[in-house]
Parts: sequence; C-alpha cells; structure tokens
Amino acid sequence: MNEEMKCLRCGGTNLKPSELQSTGKIYSCPKDAKLTAVLTTGAVMHAYICFDCGHVDLVVDPEKAKSLAKVP
Ligand SMILES: [Zn+2]
Repeated sequence: MNEEMKCLRCGGTNLKPSELQSTGKIYSCPKDAKLTAVLTTGAVMHAYICFDCGHVDLVVDPEKAKSLAKVP
C-alpha cells in the first residue's frame, strides 16, 4: 500500500496500517484455490484503519492470491 491511500467509505486519507487480532494471522484463500493452496495457508490479510470514520480495509497481495487461485 502506498501513502496515497484513500478510505473507500469516506474518502479520507488518515489511514494507518493495522493488524487483525486473532489467535494467529488471518489468511484469505480463493474459493477456486488449487489443491496445494487449500492444504497450506492462503494470502495473509493486511488491514488499514481509517481514523476519520473507522472503516477497516482488508487487502492481500494480489500476486500471492493469483498464485493460489486457478486464474491465469
Ligand atoms: Zn474513512
């Protein structure tokens, strides 16, 4: 993520990286994931908090997500 991120909800620019809290990292795995991806972790999710409206934006590395999915 770059410094020019805007909040998808309010358009504010007061966003900071954060982490979702759990007993471990949270991953996202495409529904059409390759078998090898299903047996391993998915793409780690990163969160950004908007300090103007409280919106939390979740993103994964698109290249990692593509490598897990059955997409070209
Ligand atoms: Zn916002």
